Amino acid sequence: MSQSTDSQSRALLGRLRESLAVEGAGQERLDRITHIIADSMGCEVCSIYLFRDDETLELCATEGLNPESVRKTRMRLGEGLVGRVAKTSSTINTDDAPSAPGFRFMPETGEEIYSAFLGVPIQRLGERLGVLVVQSKTVRKFTEDEVYALEVVAMVVAEMTELGAFVGEGAALSARHQQPVLFRGGIGQEGAAEGHVYLHEPRVVITNVIADDPVTEKARMQDAVDHLRISVDDMLAAVGNGTGAEHKEQMQVLETYRMFANSKGWMRRMEEDIDRGLSAESAVEKEQSTARTRMGQVPDAYLRERLHDLDDLSNRLLRILTGQGASTGAEMPLDPILVARNIGPGELLEYGRKLRGIVLEEGSVGSHAAIVARALAIPLVINARRITTEALNGDHIMVDGEQGIVHLRPDESVVEAFKDKIAMLAKDQERYTSIREKPAETLDGAMLTLSMNAGLMADLPSLESSGAQGVGLFRTELQFLVRNKMPKRAELAALYSHVLEAADGQRVVFRTLDIGSDKVLPYMNSQDEPNPAMGWRAIRVGLDKPGVMRMQLQALIRASAGRPLSIMFPFIAQSEEFYAARDYLDKELKSEARLGHTVPQTVEVGAMLETPSLAFAPRKFFESVDFISIGGNDLKQFFFAADRENELVRRRYDTLNVSFLSLIEQIVNRCNETGTPVSFCGEDAGRPVEALCFAAMGLRALSMRPASIGPVKSLLRRSNLAEVKAVIEDARARGDQSVRPAVLEWMRSR
Ligand code: PEP
Ligand code: MG
Repeated sequence: MSQSTDSQSRALLGRLRESLAVEGAGQERLDRITHIIADSMGCEVCSIYLFRDDETLELCATEGLNPESVRKTRMRLGEGLVGRVAKTSSTINTDDAPSAPGFRFMPETGEEIYSAFLGVPIQRLGERLGVLVVQSKTVRKFTEDEVYALEVVAMVVAEMTELGAFVGEGAALSARHQQPVLFRGGIGQEGAAEGHVYLHEPRVVITNVIADDPVTEKARMQDAVDHLRISVDDMLAAVGNGTGAEHKEQMQVLETYRMFANSKGWMRRMEEDIDRGLSAESAVEKEQSTARTRMGQVPDAYLRERLHDLDDLSNRLLRILTGQGASTGAEMPLDPILVARNIGPGELLEYGRKLRGIVLEEGSVGSHAAIVARALAIPLVINARRITTEALNGDHIMVDGEQGIVHLRPDESVVEAFKDKIAMLAKDQERYTSIREKPAETLDGAMLTLSMNAGLMADLPSLESSGAQGVGLFRTELQFLVRNKMPKRAELAALYSHVLEAADGQRVVFRTLDIGSDKVLPYMNSQDEPNPAMGWRAIRVGLDKPGVMRMQLQALIRASAGRPLSIMFPFIAQSEEFYAARDYLDKELKSEARLGHTVPQTVEVGAMLETPSLAFAPRKFFESVDFISIGGNDLKQFFFAADRENELVRRRYDTLNVSFLSLIEQIVNRCNETGTPVSFCGEDAGRPVEALCFAAMGLRALSMRPASIGPVKSLLRRSNLAEVKAVIEDARARGDQSVRPAVLEWMRSR
């Protein structure tokens, strides 16, 4: 790159900075910028298009095009050359614009006479803000240096937009981070909450975008990169020579960090940007922005991960340069709603019950963070795209976990409606509290047992508050998932003992480790499986590598200390697996007794029915198990061959589909024939209408999230099961696909 191009670019940025320093309304500034760019680049036209909404670009300022078209000319994303630049986040440089593919004739602008067109995206950290265009009558292609210079200017415009430089009276732009924004995400945990944003990782704010002394900036950059290299080496040393999958992964990430931190190309590109007039911070951010844009475009998962690493590393570098640490000292508001890209279960537990709500940009329903949020009964919305780029610490925010909606900086009418919703939910809650001690008995006298699902100590207070009749499913793997190393037997025994004490004599069904599939323990070697949900998981791991399962069984026996003990084995697909697992338990019982430990007063051993195959097991199996618990989440995904984690198919098949209900009915009938107690512990047990239909199919025990016990009990107590059964039979006879419409209609009519 030539020295003269650098100084040209610096001169242009210098003029921009001077012009931005002058007081004036936002629109005036935008106009001045287009004038300066056109003048400096020797073009007749310079225009700035910014997004009006997600899909529409608007001409906000122009030098050279018809001024009347400002704020009138609009185009959709992908439409015309400007729309294409925005859509693809890439530069278009052509010497014959009217013949270029996608050119759209806009008579009101008078642009048809310009041949040369150079359009670059205006974006900040991968977020599209608009398009910057220069045009010229002369038939020419812009040089690489000119393209580069315009890209740097676009980045400055993006930064200025973020800082609100173009806002003011008569301006085309309204201030960013001040407007109400609605996010539609996914439901992670029901409930509604109002509060103020607390960012898990606050955004870095850059105020010095342009710098006129490249020598100083480069020295600052060098210092920061040296600092970064040392910290990466320190991290590598801290990780040390461990073994195991987690260690391997950590090392891999850190090695990538080191590679980037020492990458000459990375450093050179940033130094070139500084030469062109950017500050060290902006140069880092420009690289980061490019990485983020590419992240959204590369299909290869490995490459995407590496770009993620580069993004993280850039963040670290920015924090070093700006002195804005991970904790910026922002005080946690009294009613914090946590906003994060993603969060681990351990970190979430650290925040604990302080949080009113949680909004994640990524995350999934089955993620561990979601499980913890559910345990803590904190409303959670997942997949709220772009929330971390929009939300600022302290912003007013409302989280609607019932619908997966988030209102950021809501206006008055939304606030009012939302307050009504919260009040309504609170009223419902009151109603549920009033029936807490009452039985789950239907109008025609069927008595149900409603217990709760748990897995963390944080769940246990709900035993009392929800009115649950014991714990129908204790997911023991959660204790393994929230740690970073294998828990010891004594630790587990102490924990299980606590659980039994908290239950105070009520039944607690401990399910042995269900790992594999989505539940990967970082410290245990995991298999790379094409189909983990149908792979080496749960009891399959337990039987093939019985070490951990045996340790867990010993811990359970010791924790019982003579009290009754209920254990169930997950994911039993054929009866032999159950017999083999029970043999392990029998052996441990004998050996614990030999070692002098007090064995449980009684032991009941059950199997989880989570694959359709077990519903067809020999009668002997049903006679042998002490109880069966239907794991509806897995059973449903295998019955319909629809991945429970895949948003595209997750909701495709209704639980109240007659085929699935018939399967449930058949299981209940088989259990009744042999007098085997049967319960249902999948998420559907906690949905009132589903629970009612299960009861109509003959189920008398349901285990669910504590927050669902009230709503389920309330509906059961108001229903006549014989009537529901008749409605279901009618729907079946008619050939309905799902009984839901008929049941809902019946509910409405009553
Ligand atoms: C189930 O599959 O329904 C179940 C309760 O187990 P998990 O959700 O933990 O797989
Ligand atoms: Mg399961």
